Amino acid sequence: MKSTDIRRSFLNFFASHGHQEVASSSLVPHGDATLLFTNAGMVQFKDVFLGLEQRPYRRAASAQRCVRAGGKHNDLDNVGYTARHHTFFEMLGNFSFGDYFKRDAIRFAWSFLTEVLRLPAERLWVTIHPEDDEAADIWLGEIGVPEARFRRIPGDDNFWSMGDIGPCGPCTEIFYDHGPGIAGGPPGSPDADGDRYIEIWNLVFMQYERLTDGSLKPLPKPSVDTGMGLERLAAVLQGVHDNYDTDIFRGLIDAAAQVIGTDDLASRSLRVIADHIRSCAFLIADGVLPSNEGRGYVLRRIIRRAVRHGARLGASGPFFHRLVAPLVREMGGAYPELTQAQPAVEAALLEEEERFAQTLSHGLAILERDMQGLEGRCIPGETVFRLYDTYGFPVDLTADIARERGLEIDLDGFEQAMAQQRERARAASTFNLASVAELHSFMEMEVVWTQDFCGYKNDEVLARVR
Ligand code: ATP
Ligand code: MG
Ligand code: MG
Ligand code: MG
Repeated sequence: MKSTDIRRSFLNFFASHGHQEVASSSLVPHGDATLLFTNAGMVQFKDVFLGLEQRPYRRAASAQRCVRAGGKHNDLDNVGYTARHHTFFEMLGNFSFGDYFKRDAIRFAWSFLTEVLRLPAERLWVTIHPEDDEAADIWLGEIGVPEARFRRIPGDDNFWSMGDIGPCGPCTEIFYDHGPGIAGGPPGSPDADGDRYIEIWNLVFMQYERLTDGSLKPLPKPSVDTGMGLERLAAVLQGVHDNYDTDIFRGLIDAAAQVIGTDDLASRSLRVIADHIRSCAFLIADGVLPSNEGRGYVLRRIIRRAVRHGARLGASGPFFHRLVAPLVREMGGAYPELTQAQPAVEAALLEEEERFAQTLSHGLAILERDMQGLEGRCIPGETVFRLYDTYGFPVDLTADIARERGLEIDLDGFEQAMAQQRERARAASTFNLASVAELHSFMEMEVVWTQDFCGYKNDEVLARVR
Protein backbone atom coordinates (compact mmCIF):
# COMPACT_ATOMS: atom_id res chain seq x y z
CA MET A 1 0.00 0.00 0.00
CA LYS A 2 1.48 3.32 -1.05
CA SER A 3 1.84 6.05 1.55
CA THR A 4 -0.61 8.28 -0.33
CA ASP A 5 -3.24 5.52 -0.09
CA ILE A 6 -2.53 4.97 3.61
CA ARG A 7 -3.06 8.65 4.35
CA ARG A 8 -6.31 8.65 2.39
CA SER A 9 -7.55 5.46 3.96
CA PHE A 10 -6.98 6.87 7.46
CA LEU A 11 -8.86 10.08 6.73
CA ASN A 12 -11.72 8.20 5.04
CA PHE A 13 -12.06 5.77 7.92
CA PHE A 14 -12.45 8.56 10.46
CA ALA A 15 -14.71 10.59 8.15
CA SER A 16 -16.98 7.54 7.98
CA HIS A 17 -17.11 7.70 11.77
CA GLY A 18 -18.26 11.30 11.87
CA HIS A 19 -14.90 13.08 11.94
CA GLN A 20 -14.36 16.34 10.11
CA GLU A 21 -11.29 16.13 7.87
CA VAL A 22 -9.08 19.11 8.71
CA ALA A 23 -6.10 20.14 6.56
CA SER A 24 -2.59 20.16 8.00
CA SER A 25 -1.65 23.48 9.56
CA SER A 26 1.66 25.27 9.02
CA LEU A 27 4.90 24.08 10.62
CA VAL A 28 5.09 27.51 12.20
CA PRO A 29 2.53 27.37 15.00
CA HIS A 30 -0.10 30.03 14.62
CA GLY A 31 -0.09 32.53 17.47
CA ASP A 32 2.04 30.37 19.73
CA ALA A 33 5.44 31.85 20.54
CA THR A 34 6.16 29.13 23.11
CA LEU A 35 6.47 26.41 20.50
CA LEU A 36 9.30 26.26 17.97
CA PHE A 37 7.56 24.10 15.37
CA THR A 38 4.33 22.17 15.00
CA ASN A 39 5.37 18.82 16.43
CA ALA A 40 2.04 16.99 16.71
CA GLY A 41 -1.43 16.89 15.21
CA MET A 42 -3.00 18.45 18.29
CA VAL A 43 -1.10 21.73 17.99
CA GLN A 44 -3.65 23.40 15.73
CA PHE A 45 -6.42 22.30 18.12
CA LYS A 46 -4.81 23.47 21.34
CA ASP A 47 -7.34 26.23 21.99
CA VAL A 48 -10.21 23.90 21.17
CA PHE A 49 -8.99 21.48 23.82
CA LEU A 50 -8.61 24.35 26.26
CA GLY A 51 -12.18 25.45 25.59
CA LEU A 52 -10.97 28.84 24.33
CA GLU A 53 -12.14 28.24 20.78
CA GLN A 54 -15.32 26.69 19.40
CA ARG A 55 -15.48 24.70 16.19
CA PRO A 56 -18.58 23.47 14.38
CA TYR A 57 -17.48 19.87 14.91
CA ARG A 58 -16.56 17.73 17.90
CA ARG A 59 -14.60 15.07 16.04
CA ALA A 60 -11.72 15.77 13.69
CA ALA A 61 -9.03 13.88 11.76
CA SER A 62 -5.91 15.19 10.06
CA ALA A 63 -2.59 14.31 8.47
CA GLN A 64 -0.36 16.92 10.06
CA ARG A 65 3.13 17.82 8.89
CA CYS A 66 5.44 17.90 11.88
CA VAL A 67 9.03 18.85 12.60
CA ARG A 68 10.92 17.58 15.62
CA ALA A 69 14.28 19.24 15.38
CA GLY A 70 14.30 21.58 18.31
CA GLY A 71 12.46 22.45 21.50
CA LYS A 72 10.91 19.82 23.72
CA HIS A 73 10.89 17.19 20.98
CA ASN A 74 14.17 16.98 19.15
CA ASP A 75 14.91 13.94 17.01
CA LEU A 76 17.67 15.52 14.89
CA ASP A 77 20.39 13.38 16.41
CA ASN A 78 18.37 10.19 15.93
CA VAL A 79 18.20 10.67 12.16
CA GLY A 80 20.44 8.19 10.40
CA TYR A 81 20.83 6.15 13.58
CA THR A 82 17.33 4.68 14.08
CA ALA A 83 14.94 3.16 11.55
CA ARG A 84 12.04 5.23 12.81
CA HIS A 85 12.96 8.86 13.49
CA HIS A 86 12.80 11.81 11.13
CA THR A 87 13.10 15.53 11.55
CA PHE A 88 10.01 15.87 9.33
CA PHE A 89 7.15 13.40 9.40
CA GLU A 90 3.42 13.24 8.99
CA MET A 91 1.24 12.51 11.97
CA LEU A 92 -2.14 10.92 11.33
CA GLY A 93 -4.51 11.84 14.12
CA ASN A 94 -8.10 11.63 15.26
CA PHE A 95 -9.46 13.97 17.89
CA SER A 96 -12.47 14.15 20.15
CA PHE A 97 -13.30 17.50 21.70
CA GLY A 98 -15.37 16.44 24.69
CA ASP A 99 -17.17 13.88 22.55
CA TYR A 100 -16.15 10.19 22.63
CA PHE A 101 -13.58 8.94 25.10
CA LYS A 102 -11.46 5.87 25.86
CA ARG A 103 -13.73 3.09 24.66
CA ASP A 104 -14.38 4.53 21.21
CA ALA A 105 -10.84 5.81 20.77
CA ILE A 106 -9.43 2.35 21.43
CA ARG A 107 -12.04 0.65 19.26
CA PHE A 108 -11.45 3.00 16.35
CA ALA A 109 -7.70 2.44 16.51
CA TRP A 110 -7.97 -1.32 16.76
CA SER A 111 -10.56 -1.55 14.03
CA PHE A 112 -8.52 0.61 11.66
CA LEU A 113 -5.35 -1.40 12.18
CA THR A 114 -6.78 -4.91 12.20
CA GLU A 115 -9.89 -4.64 10.00
CA VAL A 116 -9.14 -1.89 7.49
CA LEU A 117 -5.39 -2.40 7.17
CA ARG A 118 -5.59 -6.07 8.21
CA LEU A 119 -2.49 -6.04 10.37
CA PRO A 120 -2.09 -9.33 12.21
CA ALA A 121 -3.23 -8.80 15.81
CA GLU A 122 -0.49 -11.07 17.11
CA ARG A 123 2.12 -8.54 15.97
CA LEU A 124 0.56 -5.71 17.96
CA TRP A 125 1.57 -4.86 21.52
CA VAL A 126 -0.21 -2.44 23.80
CA THR A 127 1.05 -0.33 26.70
CA ILE A 128 -0.93 1.74 29.18
CA HIS A 129 -0.33 3.96 32.17
CA PRO A 130 -0.03 1.73 35.25
CA GLU A 131 -3.02 3.33 36.99
CA ASP A 132 -5.36 3.41 34.02
CA ASP A 133 -7.58 0.44 34.91
CA GLU A 134 -10.32 1.74 32.68
CA ALA A 135 -8.06 1.42 29.61
CA ALA A 136 -6.84 -1.98 30.83
CA ASP A 137 -10.42 -3.26 31.04
CA ILE A 138 -11.17 -2.13 27.51
CA TRP A 139 -7.99 -3.62 26.00
CA LEU A 140 -8.05 -6.91 27.89
CA GLY A 141 -11.77 -7.40 28.42
CA GLU A 142 -13.41 -5.91 25.33
CA ILE A 143 -10.77 -5.96 22.59
CA GLY A 144 -9.23 -9.20 23.80
CA VAL A 145 -5.54 -8.29 23.67
CA PRO A 146 -3.75 -11.06 25.58
CA GLU A 147 -1.82 -10.25 28.77
CA ALA A 148 1.31 -11.53 27.04
CA ARG A 149 1.37 -8.54 24.69
CA PHE A 150 0.08 -6.00 27.16
CA ARG A 151 2.24 -3.86 29.46
CA ARG A 152 1.61 -1.34 32.19
CA ILE A 153 4.54 1.05 31.87
CA PRO A 154 5.69 2.50 35.19
CA GLY A 155 6.75 6.14 35.42
CA ASP A 156 5.53 9.05 33.37
CA ASP A 157 6.16 7.62 29.91
CA ASN A 158 2.48 7.08 29.37
CA PHE A 159 1.30 10.32 30.88
CA TRP A 160 0.89 13.35 28.68
CA SER A 161 0.55 16.99 29.67
CA MET A 162 0.24 20.17 27.66
CA GLY A 163 2.46 22.07 30.08
CA ASP A 164 3.15 22.44 33.80
CA ILE A 165 -0.49 23.28 34.29
CA GLY A 166 -3.53 22.57 32.10
CA PRO A 167 -4.98 19.49 30.40
CA CYS A 168 -3.22 16.18 30.90
CA GLY A 169 -3.94 12.49 31.19
CA PRO A 170 -2.81 8.92 30.63
CA CYS A 171 -1.79 7.51 27.23
CA THR A 172 -2.00 4.15 25.64
CA GLU A 173 0.46 3.18 22.91
CA ILE A 174 0.32 0.56 20.19
CA PHE A 175 3.54 -1.09 19.01
CA TYR A 176 4.28 -3.30 16.03
CA ASP A 177 6.67 -6.23 16.39
CA HIS A 178 8.94 -6.39 13.36
CA GLY A 179 10.12 -9.84 14.35
CA PRO A 180 13.08 -11.59 15.93
CA GLY A 181 15.48 -10.64 13.12
CA ILE A 182 15.76 -7.14 14.56
CA ALA A 183 17.45 -6.13 17.80
CA GLY A 184 15.38 -4.70 20.63
CA GLY A 185 13.13 -5.81 23.46
CA PRO A 186 9.40 -5.40 23.99
CA PRO A 187 8.01 -2.16 25.43
CA GLY A 188 8.91 -1.75 29.07
CA SER A 189 11.95 -4.06 28.87
CA PRO A 190 15.49 -2.78 29.43
CA ASP A 191 16.34 -2.93 25.71
CA ALA A 192 13.04 -1.45 24.49
CA ASP A 193 15.01 1.32 22.78
CA GLY A 194 15.88 -0.95 19.87
CA ASP A 195 13.96 -0.99 16.61
CA ARG A 196 12.21 -4.36 16.82
CA TYR A 197 9.07 -3.19 18.63
CA ILE A 198 8.17 0.11 17.06
CA GLU A 199 5.64 2.48 18.52
CA ILE A 200 3.15 3.29 15.82
CA TRP A 201 0.20 4.96 17.54
CA ASN A 202 -0.18 7.01 20.68
CA LEU A 203 -3.64 7.69 22.11
CA VAL A 204 -3.85 10.43 24.73
CA PHE A 205 -6.78 10.64 27.07
CA MET A 206 -7.13 14.23 28.28
CA GLN A 207 -8.88 13.56 31.49
CA TYR A 208 -7.57 16.02 34.06
CA GLU A 209 -6.55 19.58 34.52
CA ARG A 210 -3.39 20.04 36.53
CA LEU A 211 -3.79 22.98 38.89
CA THR A 212 -1.04 25.30 40.12
CA ASP A 213 -0.74 23.33 43.38
CA GLY A 214 0.00 20.20 41.31
CA SER A 215 -3.29 18.46 42.03
CA LEU A 216 -5.36 16.83 39.28
CA LYS A 217 -8.94 17.94 38.79
CA PRO A 218 -11.13 15.77 36.53
CA LEU A 219 -12.21 17.57 33.36
CA PRO A 220 -15.98 17.83 32.91
CA LYS A 221 -15.65 16.81 29.25
CA PRO A 222 -12.65 14.57 28.68
CA SER A 223 -11.08 14.63 25.20
CA VAL A 224 -8.98 12.43 22.96
CA ASP A 225 -5.85 13.28 20.97
CA THR A 226 -4.07 10.60 18.95
CA GLY A 227 -1.03 10.48 16.70
CA MET A 228 0.34 7.83 14.38
CA GLY A 229 3.44 8.28 12.23
CA LEU A 230 2.63 7.77 8.56
CA GLU A 231 6.19 6.71 7.74
CA ARG A 232 6.22 4.01 10.44
CA LEU A 233 2.87 2.70 9.31
CA ALA A 234 4.07 2.68 5.71
CA ALA A 235 7.06 0.57 6.70
CA VAL A 236 4.77 -1.96 8.38
CA LEU A 237 2.38 -2.10 5.42
CA GLN A 238 5.11 -2.28 2.82
CA GLY A 239 6.70 -5.20 4.61
CA VAL A 240 9.94 -3.42 5.42
CA HIS A 241 11.40 -2.74 8.80
CA ASP A 242 13.08 0.53 8.09
CA ASN A 243 11.18 3.74 7.31
CA TYR A 244 13.93 4.64 4.86
CA ASP A 245 13.03 1.59 2.75
CA THR A 246 9.47 2.81 2.11
CA ASP A 247 8.20 4.48 -1.06
CA ILE A 248 8.37 7.78 0.83
CA PHE A 249 12.16 7.68 1.03
CA ARG A 250 13.35 5.35 -1.73
CA GLY A 251 12.75 7.90 -4.47
CA LEU A 252 14.48 10.64 -2.49
CA ILE A 253 17.46 8.47 -1.63
CA ASP A 254 17.86 7.50 -5.29
CA ALA A 255 17.59 11.13 -6.37
CA ALA A 256 20.16 12.18 -3.78
CA ALA A 257 22.56 9.46 -4.91
CA GLN A 258 22.18 10.64 -8.46
CA VAL A 259 22.74 14.36 -7.92
CA ILE A 260 25.69 13.68 -5.63
CA GLY A 261 27.12 11.00 -7.87
CA THR A 262 27.44 8.09 -5.48
CA ASP A 263 26.24 4.52 -5.78
CA ASP A 264 26.52 3.71 -2.10
CA LEU A 265 22.75 3.51 -1.67
CA ALA A 266 22.96 2.13 1.86
CA SER A 267 24.95 5.12 3.10
CA ARG A 268 23.76 6.74 6.31
CA SER A 269 24.53 10.14 4.82
CA LEU A 270 22.02 9.57 2.03
CA ARG A 271 19.31 8.86 4.58
CA VAL A 272 20.16 11.98 6.49
CA ILE A 273 20.00 14.02 3.29
CA ALA A 274 16.68 12.42 2.25
CA ASP A 275 15.30 13.23 5.68
CA HIS A 276 16.63 16.76 5.77
CA ILE A 277 15.32 17.81 2.36
CA ARG A 278 11.81 17.18 3.63
CA SER A 279 12.12 19.30 6.77
CA CYS A 280 14.06 22.06 5.04
CA ALA A 281 11.74 22.32 2.02
CA PHE A 282 8.58 22.31 4.11
CA LEU A 283 9.98 24.81 6.61
CA ILE A 284 10.88 27.22 3.82
CA ALA A 285 7.50 26.66 2.16
CA ASP A 286 5.96 27.62 5.50
CA GLY A 287 7.91 30.87 5.55
CA VAL A 288 11.04 30.08 7.59
CA LEU A 289 14.36 31.27 6.13
CA PRO A 290 17.90 30.44 7.24
CA SER A 291 19.11 32.96 9.81
CA ASN A 292 21.14 33.23 12.98
CA GLU A 293 18.34 32.96 15.45
CA GLY A 294 15.28 31.07 16.50
CA ARG A 295 13.50 28.99 13.89
CA GLY A 296 15.75 30.25 11.12
CA TYR A 297 18.81 29.00 12.97
CA VAL A 298 17.35 25.54 13.37
CA LEU A 299 16.71 25.53 9.62
CA ARG A 300 20.26 26.71 8.94
CA ARG A 301 21.62 23.94 11.14
CA ILE A 302 19.65 21.28 9.27
CA ILE A 303 20.68 22.58 5.85
CA ARG A 304 24.35 22.74 6.87
CA ARG A 305 24.22 19.22 8.22
CA ALA A 306 22.79 18.00 4.91
CA VAL A 307 25.43 19.89 2.95
CA ARG A 308 28.19 18.40 5.09
CA HIS A 309 26.81 14.90 4.54
CA GLY A 310 26.84 15.63 0.80
CA ALA A 311 30.50 16.66 1.06
CA ARG A 312 31.18 13.43 2.93
CA LEU A 313 29.82 11.54 -0.07
CA GLY A 314 31.96 13.57 -2.43
CA ALA A 315 29.46 16.15 -3.76
CA SER A 316 31.41 18.58 -5.87
CA GLY A 317 29.04 21.53 -5.83
CA PRO A 318 25.61 22.65 -4.61
CA PHE A 319 23.30 19.65 -4.76
CA PHE A 320 20.75 20.01 -2.00
CA HIS A 321 18.43 22.42 -3.84
CA ARG A 322 18.25 19.92 -6.70
CA LEU A 323 16.31 17.54 -4.46
CA VAL A 324 13.34 19.88 -4.25
CA ALA A 325 11.98 18.77 -7.64
CA PRO A 326 12.02 15.05 -6.74
CA LEU A 327 10.39 15.91 -3.40
CA VAL A 328 7.66 17.89 -5.15
CA ARG A 329 7.07 14.90 -7.40
CA GLU A 330 6.62 12.69 -4.32
CA MET A 331 4.63 15.01 -2.09
CA GLY A 332 3.28 17.88 -4.17
CA GLY A 333 0.02 16.03 -4.72
CA ALA A 334 -0.78 15.93 -1.03
CA TYR A 335 0.75 19.36 -0.38
CA PRO A 336 0.00 21.82 -3.20
CA GLU A 337 1.59 24.58 -1.09
CA LEU A 338 4.92 22.81 -1.56
CA THR A 339 4.52 22.75 -5.35
CA GLN A 340 3.68 26.42 -5.31
CA ALA A 341 6.71 27.30 -3.22
CA GLN A 342 9.16 25.20 -5.27
CA PRO A 343 11.09 28.07 -6.91
CA ALA A 344 11.40 29.98 -3.63
CA VAL A 345 12.54 26.88 -1.79
CA GLU A 346 15.16 26.09 -4.42
CA ALA A 347 16.49 29.64 -4.36
CA ALA A 348 16.74 29.76 -0.56
CA LEU A 349 18.52 26.41 -0.38
CA LEU A 350 20.95 27.28 -3.15
CA GLU A 351 21.82 30.56 -1.46
CA GLU A 352 22.51 28.84 1.85
CA GLU A 353 24.53 26.10 0.14
CA GLU A 354 26.68 28.67 -1.59
CA ARG A 355 27.16 30.68 1.56
CA PHE A 356 28.32 27.63 3.52
CA ALA A 357 30.46 26.29 0.66
CA GLN A 358 32.83 29.23 1.17
CA THR A 359 33.88 28.00 4.61
CA LEU A 360 32.94 24.31 4.72
CA SER A 361 36.05 22.82 3.15
CA HIS A 362 38.38 25.04 5.19
CA GLY A 363 36.59 24.16 8.38
CA LEU A 364 36.60 20.47 7.54
CA ALA A 365 40.34 20.57 6.88
CA ILE A 366 40.98 22.20 10.25
CA LEU A 367 38.78 19.72 12.04
CA GLU A 368 40.41 16.81 10.24
CA ARG A 369 43.85 18.00 11.27
CA ASP A 370 42.73 18.42 14.87
CA MET A 371 41.13 15.01 14.98
CA GLN A 372 44.25 13.38 13.56
CA GLY A 373 46.43 14.86 16.25
CA LEU A 374 43.95 14.31 19.04
CA GLU A 375 45.06 12.76 22.29
CA GLY A 376 42.05 11.26 23.99
CA ARG A 377 38.51 11.28 22.67
CA CYS A 378 37.46 14.87 23.11
CA ILE A 379 37.62 17.62 20.51
CA PRO A 380 38.74 20.79 22.35
CA GLY A 381 36.22 23.56 22.92
CA GLU A 382 38.60 26.00 21.22
CA THR A 383 38.30 24.07 17.95
CA VAL A 384 34.54 23.77 18.25
CA PHE A 385 34.37 27.49 18.87
CA ARG A 386 36.67 28.40 15.98
CA LEU A 387 34.63 26.26 13.62
CA TYR A 388 31.48 27.88 14.89
CA ASP A 389 32.69 31.45 14.91
CA THR A 390 34.87 31.60 11.81
CA TYR A 391 33.59 28.78 9.63
CA GLY A 392 29.87 28.77 10.39
CA PHE A 393 29.77 25.23 11.79
CA PRO A 394 26.79 24.91 14.11
CA VAL A 395 27.88 23.06 17.25
CA ASP A 396 25.64 20.08 16.56
CA LEU A 397 27.24 19.70 13.12
CA THR A 398 30.68 19.36 14.67
CA ALA A 399 29.19 16.93 17.20
CA ASP A 400 27.71 14.91 14.33
CA ILE A 401 31.14 14.58 12.69
CA ALA A 402 32.71 13.72 16.04
CA ARG A 403 30.15 11.01 16.64
CA GLU A 404 31.00 9.33 13.32
CA ARG A 405 34.56 8.96 14.62
CA GLY A 406 33.51 7.83 18.09
CA LEU A 407 34.67 11.18 19.48
CA GLU A 408 33.07 13.79 21.68
CA ILE A 409 33.20 17.54 21.80
CA ASP A 410 34.15 19.66 24.78
CA LEU A 411 31.03 21.72 25.16
CA ASP A 412 32.28 23.22 28.40
CA GLY A 413 35.39 24.51 26.67
CA PHE A 414 33.25 25.81 23.83
CA GLU A 415 31.15 27.75 26.27
CA GLN A 416 34.24 29.24 27.89
CA ALA A 417 35.57 30.35 24.52
CA MET A 418 32.19 31.84 23.78
CA ALA A 419 32.16 33.69 27.10
CA GLN A 420 35.68 34.98 26.49
CA GLN A 421 34.68 36.37 23.15
CA ARG A 422 31.72 38.06 24.76
CA GLU A 423 34.03 39.53 27.37
CA ARG A 424 36.42 40.83 24.73
CA ALA A 425 33.55 42.41 22.87
CA ARG A 426 32.31 44.03 26.04
CA ALA A 427 35.78 45.27 26.97
CA ALA A 428 36.16 46.86 23.59
CA SER A 429 32.61 48.13 24.09
CA THR A 430 31.86 47.34 20.51
CA PHE A 431 28.24 46.50 20.68
CA ASN A 432 28.24 44.21 17.73
CA LEU A 433 24.68 43.37 16.86
CA ALA A 434 25.56 40.38 14.72
CA SER A 435 27.47 38.60 17.44
CA VAL A 436 24.81 39.40 20.00
CA ALA A 437 22.27 37.76 17.71
CA GLU A 438 24.53 34.75 17.29
CA LEU A 439 24.99 34.39 20.99
CA HIS A 440 21.30 34.71 21.50
CA SER A 441 20.61 31.94 19.04
CA PHE A 442 23.18 29.75 20.71
CA MET A 443 21.38 30.29 23.95
CA GLU A 444 18.10 29.39 22.37
CA MET A 445 19.10 26.33 20.50
CA GLU A 446 18.37 23.03 22.06
CA VAL A 447 20.31 20.05 20.94
CA VAL A 448 19.61 16.68 22.43
CA TRP A 449 23.00 15.20 23.08
CA THR A 450 22.51 11.53 22.60
CA GLN A 451 25.94 10.64 23.87
CA ASP A 452 27.74 11.42 27.06
CA PHE A 453 29.66 14.45 26.08
CA CYS A 454 32.63 15.42 28.13
CA GLY A 455 31.25 18.93 28.37
CA TYR A 456 27.94 19.92 29.84
CA LYS A 457 24.53 19.14 28.51
CA ASN A 458 23.22 21.93 26.41
CA ASP A 459 20.42 22.90 28.75
CA GLU A 460 22.93 23.18 31.55
CA VAL A 461 25.00 25.41 29.33
CA LEU A 462 21.97 27.49 28.57
CA ALA A 463 21.05 27.75 32.21
CA ARG A 464 24.55 28.97 33.01
CA VAL A 465 24.85 31.37 30.10
CA ARG A 466 21.59 32.95 31.14
P1 ATP B 1 9.33 7.44 19.98
O1 ATP B 1 9.15 6.94 21.39
O2 ATP B 1 9.48 6.35 18.97
O3 ATP B 1 10.39 8.50 19.88
P2 ATP B 1 7.22 9.30 20.59
O4 ATP B 1 6.58 8.63 21.76
O5 ATP B 1 8.20 10.38 20.87
O6 ATP B 1 7.93 8.19 19.62
P3 ATP B 1 4.74 10.63 20.05
O7 ATP B 1 5.10 11.95 20.62
O8 ATP B 1 3.87 9.74 20.86
O9 ATP B 1 6.09 9.86 19.63
O10 ATP B 1 4.10 10.87 18.60
C1 ATP B 1 3.04 10.10 18.06
C2 ATP B 1 3.51 9.22 16.91
O11 ATP B 1 4.23 9.96 15.93
C3 ATP B 1 4.46 8.12 17.34
O12 ATP B 1 3.76 7.00 17.85
C4 ATP B 1 5.17 7.80 16.03
O13 ATP B 1 4.41 6.93 15.21
C5 ATP B 1 5.24 9.15 15.34
N1 ATP B 1 6.56 9.81 15.54
C6 ATP B 1 6.99 10.46 16.65
N2 ATP B 1 8.22 10.99 16.47
C7 ATP B 1 8.57 10.68 15.20
C8 ATP B 1 9.73 10.97 14.40
N3 ATP B 1 10.74 11.70 14.86
N4 ATP B 1 9.75 10.51 13.14
C9 ATP B 1 8.72 9.77 12.65
N5 ATP B 1 7.61 9.47 13.33
C10 ATP B 1 7.51 9.92 14.60
MG1 MG C 1 10.22 10.46 20.62
MG1 MG D 1 7.39 6.85 22.70
MG1 MG E 1 4.48 8.16 22.15
